[in-house]
Amino acid sequence: MLEPSAWKQACSVLRELGGGDAARLTSCVQSRFKPMNRVAKCACENVKVSVKGDPVRLIACHCDYCQRMSGSVATLCAVYEERNILSVNGDTTVYELPKWPGGEKYFCSVCGTTVHWINPSAFPGMHMVAAGCFADPNFPAPDTVTQTKYRQSWCPEFEGAKHYEEYSGK
Ligand SMILES: [Zn+2]
Ligand SMILES: [Zn+2]
Repeated sequence: MLEPSAWKQACSVLRELGGGDAARLTSCVQSRFKPMNRVAKCACENVKVSVKGDPVRLIACHCDYCQRMSGSVATLCAVYEERNILSVNGDTTVYELPKWPGGEKYFCSVCGTTVHWINPSAFPGMHMVAAGCFADPNFPAPDTVTQTKYRQSWCPEFEGAKHYEEYSGK
């Protein structure tokens, strides 16, 4: 994988060559280092959260709260720096997290999907988005899996991620 500066250099060489093939190649190469914007949506698509680039982390949590909230084996928590949340649209209702001071979850007022949340005591300066709301087959895989002591016995480990039995602040 080339560094972004090397890709840029390759693009300028292609531009100098000119012609249709060079233009196609240039846009192909540019797409390799341009941060990709994505939009997370609730199930009814009333709430839309636009983000810039990939999340800095993707954490899967198997705890009892996350299982109840998601109705699934885990939540998939995509962690973004606050500045990379480009826009938030649609009516949400706020649920204040009882165990985390300042923590707020925002769910769609129409369909009830939890789309995004903040947790300043655990993740200062960060904004979390439910990774499933992107419904993107090419979304990055989890790097961390936590609270595995709550995981169903039939549920496999996520390949390539670090696993923790309990939440350790990591
Ligand atoms: Zn909705
Ligand atoms: Zn959890």
